[in-house]
Amino acid sequence: MGVEALLFADAGPKEGARAALFGVPYDGTSSFRPGSRLGPNAIRQASYNFETYDLDLDVDLEGARFTDLGNVEEFGSSAAMVKGVAQSATKWAAEGLFLLAVGGEHSLTPSCVQALNRPAFVVLDAHMDFRDTYLDDPHSHACVTRRVADQLGADHAVVLGVRSASREEKEAAERLGLRTVPASQIRAGGIEVALGALDELPERVYVSLDMDVIDPAYAPAVGNPEPFGLTPLEVQKVLQTLGERMVGFDLVEVSPPWDHGETAALAARMIREVLAQLSLAGKI
Ligand code: MN
Ligand code: MN
Repeated sequence: MGVEALLFADAGPKEGARAALFGVPYDGTSSFRPGSRLGPNAIRQASYNFETYDLDLDVDLEGARFTDLGNVEEFGSSAAMVKGVAQSATKWAAEGLFLLAVGGEHSLTPSCVQALNRPAFVVLDAHMDFRDTYLDDPHSHACVTRRVADQLGADHAVVLGVRSASREEKEAAERLGLRTVPASQIRAGGIEVALGALDELPERVYVSLDMDVIDPAYAPAVGNPEPFGLTPLEVQKVLQTLGERMVGFDLVEVSPPWDHGETAALAARMIREVLAQLSLAGKI
């Protein structure tokens, strides 16, 4: 099977599917280490590392009702990408599919949120991504949470694991009421500190996992590595806690040129965790 035809492990036909994964091979606004356009296919390849059976959860993904729609087209500009992904995501969501978007860089997220009916927004990210524009581009991956807050209101969003922002971002977040749980608080008080913040959100949540929230020791191949991060087990705990509440998911910012395979493997495993949670919830 060529890379072009590679699909996520255990993905079935679109017919009868209740969830759909799709790739967005776009990294046009990357500010430091480009390469995330290669993320979707690297993560698909890594997905074949794992057993179909999840020993901890007693769930088997073989025969689960999810499909892989492949990658969306390669867009030239961020504006074209944002528009194109919104159109595709809106169409697929209207077909009743739970969407799992795989980046690519983080700039795809507002388009996926827009396709749903005003969910709450939980983003795991080392960065606040709360700039109004970056390098004159409001669709930059540095502006993601700001664009989602434009849609939902900042009080419908929470950022977990943040440890990097400009002073302007911090002040805007405080002014607009964006909730953040810094990585330092999670390190001091445990992941339960983050779980408490999730209790205050509306029931239906969209989850965006920027892989750079995880410490670079575990996930080195990201566009903007930031030390002092979360552990994979802490992120897994968040996904397990939100399992039944999730209405959409994305995983972004894996940059394969910087990888020896460990970051792609961890990313694929996180996607499988979400799929297992969907299965447990009877959604796929
Ligand atoms: Mn981000
Ligand atoms: Mn980030």
